[in-house]
Amino acid sequence: MKRILIILSLLLFVSSIWADLTVKFKGTSLTEKIDTKRFDNTEYFRASELNKVFHAKISDDKIDQRLYVNLYDEQIIFLIETSYVQHRDKIYNFKYPIRSQKGKFYIPVLFLKKILPKLLPDKIKYSGKNLIAENPRDDSIKRIVIDPGHGGKDPGAVSINKKNYEKTIVLKVAQKLSKIIIKELNCEVLITRTKDEFISLQERTRYANSNNADLFISLHCNAHRSNKANGIEVYYLSTAKTDDARAVEALENSVVYDFEGGTEAVKKYDDLSFILADMAQNEHLRESNELAMKLQENLIQSTKSYDRGVKQANFYVLRGAFMPAVLIELGFLSNKKEEKKLMKDSYQNTLAKAIFEGLKSFKLKYDSLQ
Ligand SMILES: [Zn+2]
Repeated sequence: MKRILIILSLLLFVSSIWADLTVKFKGTSLTEKIDTKRFDNTEYFRASELNKVFHAKISDDKIDQRLYVNLYDEQIIFLIETSYVQHRDKIYNFKYPIRSQKGKFYIPVLFLKKILPKLLPDKIKYSGKNLIAENPRDDSIKRIVIDPGHGGKDPGAVSINKKNYEKTIVLKVAQKLSKIIIKELNCEVLITRTKDEFISLQERTRYANSNNADLFISLHCNAHRSNKANGIEVYYLSTAKTDDARAVEALENSVVYDFEGGTEAVKKYDDLSFILADMAQNEHLRESNELAMKLQENLIQSTKSYDRGVKQANFYVLRGAFMPAVLIELGFLSNKKEEKKLMKDSYQNTLAKAIFEGLKSFKLKYDSLQ
């Protein structure tokens, strides 16, 4: 019995030396360890651990004797060699002083277990054993831009009888899609136009970029000189292309020639801005391709339309986007049968739902890889 007690107390002693704190990140399998160290029988950790584990920004002011920690966009100020910490307009006292040793700062572990969960209750909790924290590197898809193509003076593809316009159909599908995403995916949706108005291609990607969107989905309908052409295809950006892709590319890009000041406007999209935008998009080629595949798969499954496949083309509207970006051709307005389907509210619902399903499965995979 005595021997067991000795072993137990030895174990306790060892575990108190190695009592590192584990941080588990919500919604991921990610864990991190915070190394701890004892001073005068009190557990401390080095301030730099906050940077390693939470990506906090840390700086100190030697004259003011303050240590500034920027954690989850909140500023926390430690008063060095005192036990005080300031957050917003409140000052907290946690009994043990923040230590400064050879230019390194040490904070009592009590701060992580007791104070921090109070300061940032929606970000960090202490379970009595581990810290459960919001993932500071949250790169999950949270904001999606839906871009109904054309609009206003630019009708896009027009049906043979000249009565039905691409711009009207894609706006309807975009609005339906937006509703489903908001309801089912816990994502923010930004839509480039909500009414029949003209918006330049550049404005569309600028809107997505300036809002830090995570995905860009441009919706279109196709047209072909042969009224037999039919089916659905999804594009992602690339400079490599087949002849067919080149034709669709010319069609979708024609807005630049037709409505945005002809050659002058085309020049604006080219040169350096093109190279830069193209590089930015290259980083996302793999993701754009995967998103395109998921969308195509779901669209074909739901609509039983002819599968024209996932293609690469060089669309102006995709060029400027600094995020995974795709362009969906929902069907041919130049084909009477498809025109009739595309005009139907129920078919527009089917399209929206299929795009949503593809998006959802892409998001689930993408988010879990982060
Ligand atoms: Zn179009």
